[in-house]
Amino acid sequence: MNSINNFINLTKKSKFLLSCKETDFIVKLTCFICSVVALCGFLVAFVAIGCSKKNRVDSQPTVTPIVVFGVDGLEWNVMLPMLRAGRLPNFAKLMERGYYGKLATFVPTFSPVIWTTIATGKRHSKHGIHNFARRLPDDKITLFNNLDRKTKAVWNILSDYDKSVVTIGWWMTHPVEPINGIMVAQTNTRAQLDTRFGKHIWKGTLRKGVPNQVYPPERQNEMISILEAVERGADDLAKEIFGEFQFPLSLLGERLWGNCQWAFRADATYLKIAHKLAQSQPMPDLTLIYLGGPDVVGHRFWRYMVPQLYRHRPTSEQIANFGTIVKDYYAYIDSALGDIITDVGPDATIFVISDHGMKAVNQNATFDPDLPPSDINSGEHQDAPPGVIFAAGPNIRKLTSTEKTPTSLMRSDLIEVCGVLDITPAILAMLRIPIGLDMDGEVPTKIFTDQFQITHQPAPVDTHDTAEFFSKRLKSSAHPGKAERLEQLRSLGYIGND
Ligand SMILES: [Zn+2]
Repeated sequence: MNSINNFINLTKKSKFLLSCKETDFIVKLTCFICSVVALCGFLVAFVAIGCSKKNRVDSQPTVTPIVVFGVDGLEWNVMLPMLRAGRLPNFAKLMERGYYGKLATFVPTFSPVIWTTIATGKRHSKHGIHNFARRLPDDKITLFNNLDRKTKAVWNILSDYDKSVVTIGWWMTHPVEPINGIMVAQTNTRAQLDTRFGKHIWKGTLRKGVPNQVYPPERQNEMISILEAVERGADDLAKEIFGEFQFPLSLLGERLWGNCQWAFRADATYLKIAHKLAQSQPMPDLTLIYLGGPDVVGHRFWRYMVPQLYRHRPTSEQIANFGTIVKDYYAYIDSALGDIITDVGPDATIFVISDHGMKAVNQNATFDPDLPPSDINSGEHQDAPPGVIFAAGPNIRKLTSTEKTPTSLMRSDLIEVCGVLDITPAILAMLRIPIGLDMDGEVPTKIFTDQFQITHQPAPVDTHDTAEFFSKRLKSSAHPGKAERLEQLRSLGYIGND
């Protein structure tokens, strides 16, 4: 770009030379000839610079758009039998051409903590998002939000380096911030006030009537209209994914099912937004998409998928209703992944990651519908079971440590690829942006081809954080609108008073 800008500036200077107002014809002619000679000189220089730059680019591997498909709670123990049964064809295709395995994670496996770690390459002691919410000195509860993050996220760093980035539904992105691209927030992490058992906090989605959910702001109405269309078709979508229930729902069943509806709508909205953006504009250098549904159904319906693990087994009617909910949703995620790969084209680099896996919990519980949410959950991840990672693209190595195909793969065949801390370093390395030495993760070199690894990795920098970045965030944080927004969310019932 610099050589192009130099050329434009120099050409402007040449035009200035040509506009000299000498009266003498010879002077004019001389001036004109000089200008032409100068212009030719500049053109030769420009071509030479351009060629040398082109040579440099040619010696590097092709960098194609990167898409990170973040899916909360995807678990290998669910995926493996589905892969063997051919129910995850798009994941299988990704595995056949790329790298995959377990993604290490750590406690606490709270979504805002881990997804912010994924987006920063740092532990929560550095990024500052420690939980869903925190208690203020006056004893009120406030939600952590984007402005509480104490370090740059990958979207800030890419923007600094003139790379384009789109984030859709990612944790801790509300209120949105200016980036070199589009940010669609995950908004209003929701606190459900239960007067008997205390507050239970759920994941957020776009909400009507709340400002600062989309950057640039002029695109917010467009995104909300997508949410409204999804809401109108929500019942049909649920039937499409899960079919119809064979038996009437019990009280517990109604509660479990009702608690998932918001997640289905959030995921469908974010997927439609991703599709619309992919159709309507060139692919950005990086797209981050977050879907929460597999975690939400995993918490509530694990017991119906593997009833033999529980002391109080569900009835056969309950199993008929709910036994396939988790796997049906995984199949929906597989088909959404296929749509995204179609949208972005075969040359893009795709990562699919989950923040943790899931396992059975409350195996001796009675699952009384009046119990608090944590006691009617039958799936959990508190001790940080590993998540999943799939990567495929021009610079990604094909995994050769196992000869197994996706349809014959067993749990013991899976290797630990890297950890949640290493995703941001991997993205930066792919885009030839320096890693920050203050990051806790490192580049997972084994997933990249030899050709990619040997060429032109930039030297690391101490940090990407700057005083200017912090002062901007402090100003936003102190903005009087923040208090008003909290009050607005509280009045809408999204935040409890504790
Ligand atoms: Zn969870």
